[in-house]
Amino acid sequence: MKKDDLEALGALLGSGKVRTDEALLDARAHDYWAASHLRRWRGERPALPGCVVQPHETADVQKLLAFANERGIAVIPFGLGSGVCGGVIASPDAILLDMSAMNRIREIDEINLLASFDAGKNGLEAEEAVAALGLTTGHWPQSIGVSSVGGWVSTRASGQFSTAYGNIEDIIYAIEAVLPNGELVRLGKAPRAAAGPDLRHLLMGAEGIMGVVTGVTLSLRRKPEARGYSAFYAGSMEQGFEAQRRIIQSDWRPPVMRQYDHPETARNFPDHAQGEKAVLLMVHEGPQARVEAEIADISRIALAAGLEQASPAISELWLAKRNHVPTWTEAFEHRIVADTVEISGKWTDIAPIYHAAIASLGEVPGIVIASAHSSHVYRSGINLYFTFAVLLDKVEAMEPAYFECWRRILEATAAHGGGIAHHHGAGRIRKDFIVSDLGISGVDLLRRLKDAIDPHRIMNPGNLLPDRPL
Ligand SMILES: Cc1cc2nc3c(=O)[nH]c(=O)nc-3n(C[C@H](O)[C@H](O)[C@H](O)COP(=O)(O)OP(=O)(O)OC[C@H]3O[C@@H](n4cnc5c(N)ncnc54)[C@H](O)[C@@H]3O)c2cc1C
Repeated sequence: MKKDDLEALGALLGSGKVRTDEALLDARAHDYWAASHLRRWRGERPALPGCVVQPHETADVQKLLAFANERGIAVIPFGLGSGVCGGVIASPDAILLDMSAMNRIREIDEINLLASFDAGKNGLEAEEAVAALGLTTGHWPQSIGVSSVGGWVSTRASGQFSTAYGNIEDIIYAIEAVLPNGELVRLGKAPRAAAGPDLRHLLMGAEGIMGVVTGVTLSLRRKPEARGYSAFYAGSMEQGFEAQRRIIQSDWRPPVMRQYDHPETARNFPDHAQGEKAVLLMVHEGPQARVEAEIADISRIALAAGLEQASPAISELWLAKRNHVPTWTEAFEHRIVADTVEISGKWTDIAPIYHAAIASLGEVPGIVIASAHSSHVYRSGINLYFTFAVLLDKVEAMEPAYFECWRRILEATAAHGGGIAHHHGAGRIRKDFIVSDLGISGVDLLRRLKDAIDPHRIMNPGNLLPDRPL
């Protein structure tokens, strides 16, 4: 970054908010994307941003974006860096906008069940603040302790309890954001509106390319009165999917409903694994009477679909271990490259997607793990969360194998009619595949919206949108 830009920025915001110390630049150079970690482990030094700006309030973000827009300087928003798709990649001519110092609780409204936070607020801290009042956001991503509420909005995140409580788009009430020219917008005023298109969606899933989310209001729930557990064995993934379809289409909504194929059952619940059987586990929440009725009727539906009862301890075990955040380095040391890839599909497409992706992964030389589980259920379909791991002799072969596995899963999904991204966003790993979901005209529309909102293309360049031409 040019010296005079840096000096002007320091004068504009106060030098304490504009940092150039190398340790901080290095810590913000990328997110949790396995490819970035692999490159670093291999000894490649990541490109560092020109500086890290740490705003304390919305007005700082407004000043910063107006400044960057006028001078044509790229700005890369950074929440807490738990994104897994390469949504944050620094470049020396860019400003890294670190939102973590904007972390206030703005308001908790116990009557209307609303809570407003600065966008950089740690998700677990947000949840703990409302939990102290007997409330919950209902949004529990596995990464809750290492992600921000602004990051949730920006990646269209999904929590583990989404089947009853919805994904982040169902929980967001209002968004405060700064557009690339420094203008402030507040989107979302009433519990529901028909005052034109819902402009909140311009920011949801925008992954930093449309502006900066500075504040988020979430719609809360009262903590459930009761919680219960149930679990079943399915003879095949198809049989389990069919049971899940019947359960959800009977209008039962267990917040957690997850189905693990037999390799994942053996890895995650070894004491409960039974040969080739899949496990379907559930957590039920709500008023006591509903929880009891739900467990009883779901059990009836599952058994009628051919499933067998399993120990509810499986669900309790999952709940106890669910927020584990793994590190990549240990796998790399063993010459293993691995990742998880989430997709979704209609009920009629999901088994073909599962089988095609697993079969395709099986052809990758060195593959040691190719497995999947489902974790978010809808009336019309379900997601799948694939895990792959490849063991290689040569370090140079690890990165090509990584991209090959991703390509195979996304192509198998697209070929069988599925959506190529359920909740981690696109970042860099998926940007060339979003055409499969949006179509060429959809990508073109997104580009035109981006160009209208960010004509100088300062916001997170290289992220989410495919490089031109398509
Ligand atoms: C172990 C692990 C488990 C995970 N589990 C889940 C899960 O269960 N569900 C789920 O949905 N995700 C999960 N994730 C992915 C990740 O945590 C989410 O994508 C999360 O929403 C990212 O939040 P963040 O604050 O860390 O964002 P970052 O990683 O900092 O940024 C993500 C993207 O959003 C942009 N961005 C961030 N903040 C802002 C802002 N204020 N304004 C504009 N743009 C912004 C960035 O530029 C980037 O493109 C998991 C990740 C890990 C490592």
